[in-house]
Amino acid sequence: MTTEKARVVLEIKPTLPPSENPVIDHISRKMLAALMLPEKGGAEGLTKEVGYLGTPESGSLFEEGVFYPKVLTFSAISCPCGKSSQALAHFRFPNGVVTGSLGFHYLTFHREEVPEDDIAIINKLPYGEVEVEKNHLY
Ligand SMILES: [Zn+2]
Repeated sequence: MTTEKARVVLEIKPTLPPSENPVIDHISRKMLAALMLPEKGGAEGLTKEVGYLGTPESGSLFEEGVFYPKVLTFSAISCPCGKSSQALAHFRFPNGVVTGSLGFHYLTFHREEVPEDDIAIINKLPYGEVEVEKNHLY
């Protein structure tokens, strides 16, 4: 198993309240298109992998910053603003970029705390754009 560090975006811990007006722009639409890639059998062979990203808390089994495909945990994860995700899942896109299950929430509701470098990487995702609907946000 490789221990190469993943190129991770949107792994942040927001400290400010969420925006009342989520940011819906081409960056949000590109990220949503990537997240909507199927896990298998995608058009043109494009799929995303589901797995686990090693964290400082995950102990010796998982190296920090390394993506482990097909490893799932069942602990919920919450944003400080209260938004929660059922599972602490991470996704790896075909180009190798990894993001977490709250990444899209951070991108839309905590945009001011998202690093510029992350925005630049998301802007280069080559999977098209998907229109953001209300059910993607809440
Ligand atoms: Zn939040």
